[in-house]
Amino acid sequence: MRTSELIFKSRREVPQDAEASSHQLLLRGNYIRRLTSGVYSFLPLGYQVLRRVERIVEEELDRVGASELLLPALHPVEIWRATGRDAKMADVLFGVEGKSGSFVLGPTHEEAVIEAMSPDIESYRDLPKLVYQIQTKFRDEPRARFGLMRTREFIMADGYSFDVDRDTMRASYQRFYEAYQAIFRRVGLKAEPVEADAGSIGGDVNHEFMVASSIGEDHFARCRECGYQANIEAARAGERAGVPVARDIEPVTYSTPNAPGVEIAVKALQAAGAEVEVASMLKSMLLVGEAGQLVLALLPGDRTLNVPRGMRLAEDVEMGDFVKGYIGPQGQSSRVTILADPLVRTRPSWASGANQEGSHTVGLRLGIDFNVDRFENLVVVQDQDPCPHCGAPLELVRSVEVGHTFQLGLTYSGMLAHARFSTVDGQELPYWMGCYGIGVTRVPAVIAQQYGSPEGDAVAWPVEVAPYVVSVVGVGATKDNDVVAVARRLHDLINAGGVSALLEDRDVSTGVAMRDLELIGSPIFCVVGARSLANKMVEIRDRMHDRTTLVPIEKAPAAVI
Ligand code: ATP
Ligand code: MG
Ligand code: MG
Ligand code: MG
Repeated sequence: MRTSELIFKSRREVPQDAEASSHQLLLRGNYIRRLTSGVYSFLPLGYQVLRRVERIVEEELDRVGASELLLPALHPVEIWRATGRDAKMADVLFGVEGKSGSFVLGPTHEEAVIEAMSPDIESYRDLPKLVYQIQTKFRDEPRARFGLMRTREFIMADGYSFDVDRDTMRASYQRFYEAYQAIFRRVGLKAEPVEADAGSIGGDVNHEFMVASSIGEDHFARCRECGYQANIEAARAGERAGVPVARDIEPVTYSTPNAPGVEIAVKALQAAGAEVEVASMLKSMLLVGEAGQLVLALLPGDRTLNVPRGMRLAEDVEMGDFVKGYIGPQGQSSRVTILADPLVRTRPSWASGANQEGSHTVGLRLGIDFNVDRFENLVVVQDQDPCPHCGAPLELVRSVEVGHTFQLGLTYSGMLAHARFSTVDGQELPYWMGCYGIGVTRVPAVIAQQYGSPEGDAVAWPVEVAPYVVSVVGVGATKDNDVVAVARRLHDLINAGGVSALLEDRDVSTGVAMRDLELIGSPIFCVVGARSLANKMVEIRDRMHDRTTLVPIEKAPAAVI
C-alpha cells in the first residue's frame, strides 16, 4: 500500500469534544468518523484494525471448537417479552415499529440464539454446542463516551454454549475463557479476569475481563500477594451472601425513600440546567447524574451501597440546599453521596468546597483542569485494608471492561418450553447455557489508549492489529532517485514476504511524512536515508521498544518479516 492511495488527510488540530487520547488519535488518524453521538463510521484504516481484531477472535474461538454463525439484529419484540427482558433492559433497548409489528434492535442475543439453535438440540447427543457471531449490537446508552469506548451501535463477538448439566457447562465456559485470554494476549491487552456480578444478563458465575486504564468507567479490587480480584458489584454480592468483603469498599447507608425521590432530583437538576442521565453504574438501581461536572450517585429505597472509600467525598449532600432540597418526596430526608469522577473536570467552586472537607483521594485532583491521560497512577486507592483471602493490602484499579463471560445455567432455557433436550433416560430438561461477549469495536479504542501517545498524535499498534506492520519511508525521497528506488524495493519485498507494508510515496516533507506515519501507527519504521544508503545501510525503528538499528539493505526485509 502507498500513502498516496490511502484515505488519509493530515489533521493537526485537536478534535473538538475528544477528551481521551485514544479518541483524538482515532479521529486525527482518519480511523473513524462520527455520524451522531455514539455512532461511528469505520474509515479504511480503522476498518483494517477492526478486521484484524475480528480475525483473531475467529481464530481463537474456532480453535476451541466454537462455530461461527450470524443472527439477525432485528428481533420481534415477542421473544423479548417471553424472557421478561423487554422490561428488564428497557433502559437500553431500541424499539422499531414496523408495518408488520414491533421489533427490537438486539442489544444482546440470548433470546435470538435460543430460537436459532433449539430445533437442532433435540437430545443429549446433540450437546455440547458452542457457537458465536460477530455482529452489530444496539444499546441506547445514556452516556456515549470516548469515541469507540461506549457507543450506541457497536460490534460484539458474542458466544453461546449449550450443555446437558452444570459440569459440562463449566467445561464449555472454560473453553471460551481460555480463548478470551488468548485473544486479549494477541491484541496486546493485559486483560484481567475479575469475578463479577451478573447484572441484567443473569446467571451465576461470571468474569469480566478488565484492562487497567485511566479512562475506565469500572473499578476492580486487586490483591498483589495472592491474586484475588473482584469487581465492586461482586464484592457487594459477596457481602450479601455473608462472604468476607474487600474492606476498602466501605459500606455507606443511604436512605432515599423511594424511586420518585430520585426522579424528582433528576428533574430538579435538569431544571437547573444540568445534564442528567441514568447509567447502569454499579447496579441498575443506582442512578448517576451529572450535575454540571460533578457526578452524583443516588440510590432509591433503603439500601446499602458500597462505594470505594477513596472516591467518597462526603457522606452528606455537599452541594448544599441546591440538591438536598429536592431529594426525597414530601420533605423526607435523604442522603446522597457525591462521587468525584477523575475524568471529569470539576468546577472550581464546587471543588474548593470538597477540598475544605479534606477528603481527597489518591490520584484525584480537584479544582484544576487536568488531562486524564496524565493520570498515570491507575491505582486509585491503595489502602491498608486486607485482602479477604490472604490479608495483604488491597488496591482498587480503574479499568475498562473488554469482555464478559457468564455461566447462565438455566436462566433462559428454564423459562422457555422449547429450550429443552431429552436425556439418556428420556426426560425432557432445559439445557445449561453460557454466554460470552467481547467488545470488538471497543478493543481498538482500548489498544489506542494503551499504546498511543498522551497527546493523541501517535500510536504504535501491536503487530497483530496494526493496519500496516512496517512503514517504509525514504528521507528526502523526492529528491533522491536511489532513495526512492530502495524504499520502493524494500516495500515490495516486505509485502511479498507476507508482512503488510506501507510506502510513503507522497510529495511531502520528511516532517509531515513522519507525523502522519506516527498516526497510522506501524510498529516498525524502515527509514531509507541518503547518508546511510551510501554505506548500503537502512534504519529499522522498533517503535514499540524505542530501538533503532542500522542494517545492511539486503538484510532489511528479513529483519522485519
Ligand atoms: P459496560 O459495563 O461497559 O456497560 P456491559 O457490561 O454492559 O459493558 P456486556 O453486556 O457484558 O457489556 O457486553 C459484552 C462486552 O461488550 C463488554 O465487555 C464490552 O466490551 C462491550 N460493550 C458493551 N457495551 C458497549 C458499548 N456501549 N460500546 C462498546 N462496547 C460495548
Ligand atoms: Mg453496559
Ligand atoms: Mg459491565
Ligand atoms: Mg458486562
